[in-house]
Amino acid sequence: MILPLASWTYGLEESEIRRLLRVRTRYYMAGGIPGKLPLGAFSAIFRDVARELSSDFGDSPMLNYGATEGIAEFREVLADRLRRTEKVSGEIAISSGSQQSIYAVLKIIADEGDVIIAPEPTYLGFLGPCQILGLRVITVPMSERGLEVEDLTNAYLNSLQEYRRRPVAIYFPSFADNPTGHSPSWRNKLEVYDFAVSHDLIILEDNAYKEIYFGGSKHIPMKSLDKENETVVYMSTTSKEAAVLRVGYSVMPDYIMDPFVKLKGFLDLCTSSLDQQLALRYYRDHIDSILPQVRELYKRQRDAMVRSFDENIGGVRSDPQGGFFVWADLGDVDSKQILPSVIECCDLSYVPGSAFLSRGEVTGWVRLSYSSLNPESIWSGMELLGKFLRN
Ligand code: PMP
Repeated sequence: MILPLASWTYGLEESEIRRLLRVRTRYYMAGGIPGKLPLGAFSAIFRDVARELSSDFGDSPMLNYGATEGIAEFREVLADRLRRTEKVSGEIAISSGSQQSIYAVLKIIADEGDVIIAPEPTYLGFLGPCQILGLRVITVPMSERGLEVEDLTNAYLNSLQEYRRRPVAIYFPSFADNPTGHSPSWRNKLEVYDFAVSHDLIILEDNAYKEIYFGGSKHIPMKSLDKENETVVYMSTTSKEAAVLRVGYSVMPDYIMDPFVKLKGFLDLCTSSLDQQLALRYYRDHIDSILPQVRELYKRQRDAMVRSFDENIGGVRSDPQGGFFVWADLGDVDSKQILPSVIECCDLSYVPGSAFLSRGEVTGWVRLSYSSLNPESIWSGMELLGKFLRN
């Protein structure tokens, strides 16, 4: 007998990316799996940690519960780094991945039926929580420059007209957006920040890919404008540049931080202390000497992806200056419908663009990840995909 569940469980589809993770392909361009992890540094960290745990049966904060908001020393290391490199100051809250912050912050700022403005296409891991929480998403086009104030104004008015409520927040990917790879300009950050302040909106600034930026001069996050710590929730993660330890971190206004820590206390009590200790050592002792090499390696993979796409497929695509993804149009095809054949014929997978569109419409667009393949494999995969599409 199947007993009834909460209504939100009906109609919720599994994330396309999580599903594709189970399908092994030689040319895996689906998930953004970080392929340039600092293994040497982590091996040294593991050795240090093992030495610290050498005696038997005792208490170690590393293997125990910790404060819900995170380990104080780790929070301080991250806060200091944000002050130095991004002109962001404020208390840090640790989370179990930044995915947890996205979910928890949405739950705190919005009631069922409330409206959030988000870019189109949107990070799939943002759309899912909105659906679970019963939030309405009004999208505005994401361009290379960012989000246009005119589009935000229309979205705001739409929300008033269609749902009789003002939106509560704008979701704003600040660096190397997932899936487009676009990095909004500094000017655009100023404009969107001003718009949010003048319309009493919260900004959910997603900085997941900020460390994997290899374009020209990198600008700082929108949070750096929020001197009073009132408007912007800054969310980031260690997943992309350290190791996928499931450790995220945020800086948010006190009135959000307070319920955040309470809610997190009921979601997972605390983020794994051991994982935080590993990340602490990486950020304190290693990251600054390692990041330049990591960026260079991802940049080479990006180069291979865009060049091989142009040569073998052609058509419209984004020009990412960081992150893991190229957003590209395969032409007059339904990219979701042809995916099983692509997997079978080319041993290659991508994420169909429809996964990132709020209405899931049919499209030829795809998100191609270059994060875990070397340049040679990227070229070989693109040649196969090009041949498949021509046939
Ligand atoms: N934001 C964006 C844009 C992402 O791409 C991801 C990872 N896919 C996350 C947040 C969540 O990352 P994590 O939970 O690993 O910190």
